Amino acid sequence: MSSYSSTDNSYVISPCLQRNFPCSKKPRNYKLFINCGGSKVTSSDNEYEDDSSPLGAARYAISEDNTWASSSTGSFLAYHNEANYIATNMSVLNTSNPELYTTARLTPVSLKYYGLCLQKGDYNVSLHFAEIMFTSDDTFSSVGKRLFDVSIQGQKVLHDFDIVKEANGTGKDIIKTFTASVDGTLEIHLYWAGKGTTAIPFRSVYGPLISAISVTPNFNPTTSDGKLSLGAIVGIVVSVCIFILLLSAILWIYLRRRNSKRSEEFKGIEFQTGHFSLKQIKDATRNFDPANKIGEGGFGPVYKGVLSDGSEIAVKQLSSKSNQGNREFVNEIGLISALEHPNLVKLYGCCIEGNQLFLIYEYLENNSLARALFGPERSRLNLNWQTRRNICLGIAKGLTYLHEESTLKIVHRDIKSTNVLLDRDLKAKISDFGLAKLHGGENTHISTRIAGTFGYMAPEYAMRGYLTDKADVYSFGIVMLEIVSGTANSNYMPKEDMMCLVDWANILTERGSLLELVDPKLESSYSKEEALQMLNLVLLCTNPSPSVRPLMSTVVSMLEGKIAVHLPSLNPSASKHDDTRPETFKKSSHDSQLTDSSAYHENRIESAILSESRYRSDNVD
Ligand code: ATP
Repeated sequence: MSSYSSTDNSYVISPCLQRNFPCSKKPRNYKLFINCGGSKVTSSDNEYEDDSSPLGAARYAISEDNTWASSSTGSFLAYHNEANYIATNMSVLNTSNPELYTTARLTPVSLKYYGLCLQKGDYNVSLHFAEIMFTSDDTFSSVGKRLFDVSIQGQKVLHDFDIVKEANGTGKDIIKTFTASVDGTLEIHLYWAGKGTTAIPFRSVYGPLISAISVTPNFNPTTSDGKLSLGAIVGIVVSVCIFILLLSAILWIYLRRRNSKRSEEFKGIEFQTGHFSLKQIKDATRNFDPANKIGEGGFGPVYKGVLSDGSEIAVKQLSSKSNQGNREFVNEIGLISALEHPNLVKLYGCCIEGNQLFLIYEYLENNSLARALFGPERSRLNLNWQTRRNICLGIAKGLTYLHEESTLKIVHRDIKSTNVLLDRDLKAKISDFGLAKLHGGENTHISTRIAGTFGYMAPEYAMRGYLTDKADVYSFGIVMLEIVSGTANSNYMPKEDMMCLVDWANILTERGSLLELVDPKLESSYSKEEALQMLNLVLLCTNPSPSVRPLMSTVVSMLEGKIAVHLPSLNPSASKHDDTRPETFKKSSHDSQLTDSSAYHENRIESAILSESRYRSDNVD
């Protein structure tokens, strides 16, 4: 018997063989099929296990896979040596599954079967019987009578059970099914209670007789045995692969959509301007060599590059993380490509590859005005009086073009000394149109999204979002003051605190000593008359009331000496009253004094004041 072992040296059943004895490991079994007294057979798609060991008196056996065990006690009366503990009858039986009934387990006194390590729950326990030792003919064998009891989990379920009577004859099968609650071990106990015949047709024919046992769960069992089957492993691997493929496909579709959305956003821009490939840009900047970096703005770094034909370019890299950058990038390309003026930085083209965005400008050898005036010592330029005047005139002409001459009327919104670049001949060119805003005719513009740089923003724009070209005039006035004084507005530290350079200029005007502001580096090599004219123009342009500020074309005429600069009558109390700048603005002016010139970018503010919906409607304007 290969499926189980047996022993004959003990009347003591293994201590595990008790009903509901807990399983030493996690119970995993949930069904049991035993062909009692016979070898392994398949019946009704169930495999009935081998139970053909010569289990005799006082023996027990445990199946090799430890799913069940059996024990038998008792000896046949006066027939011990030749007793047969298995009944066999190969003649055709009157049953639908004869393979289960040709053999049966027979025991003189007690026969127990144990289902081991069964999952907790209710089970259907079916006991298959057929009387194969007696006959129904006229022979002596037909006189025999077998009676026995059956208990399941200690509960008697059959009393004085007579197979022949229940099956209506010998050689016929009868299945008795019971429900049993099991938590670990199931016990089926068949025992002889001393009733019936004992020696017909021969001795050792009495006692319990059973053909097969089937135990099935009445609940949804856990079918895994803890280890993954090959099929399960293959299933998991296939599912994971499908999942990864699906994820990749979704990611691919998402990226494609995003890129096509981006392409949509930039559609036409490449046609409006020249187009550069990423390779061209990389070659020109020597793969963005840090040595070629010429500045860093709100967008990201700016590199100097040399194209294969020897022409120099400035490459502004847009940080792909910045949404604000994207918006401004599109804005800047759209605007700048439509504009052409000697005092505006020329846009050569752009480069859009993947999520990399670049603007390619003409390269301006002398970098920014801010650097020339108050950058690090080694990069400062010695700007003489005439050059300073020309720079002011250049900026004024550029702004005049933006405000009054171009077909698109544009408010730059971010005029400051870092946005004024100087070419080889120190001619001024306005750059950074990222914040530029279109404005139509006389329509004033209430902007919901304030953007600009502290120290340069007109008070009515900074505080109320009231945006007209006069906001640029104010910023221009500040830049002109920086040019004349050689000092950064936000970096000015006069003796009186709580003031920036422009406040100081107002005080000096009242004191009649405006010329104190002129850059001492110029010594006496400047025209006092022109200096006074320019400083008065500064005061005019930075007047708190936008309506007092001149148009940029008027500023050009004034700088060219065609029109005199007339300051509005100075009524100190009125001017104080006129100063619409609230304390917070004055405070922020003061705060900005605390920073050094390198902190220009940090001073730049961008604040969404109103809701997104208002922002959108603002953008549509
Ligand atoms: P923000 O973006 O906050 O307004 P910004 O105007 O300084 O600051 P960018 O326009 O990106 O920012 O320029 C950064 C710096 O790069 C400039 O200050 C300047 O020094 C340098 N730069 C920009 N464009 C050019 C150019 N065409 N030629 C030479 N240098 C340039």
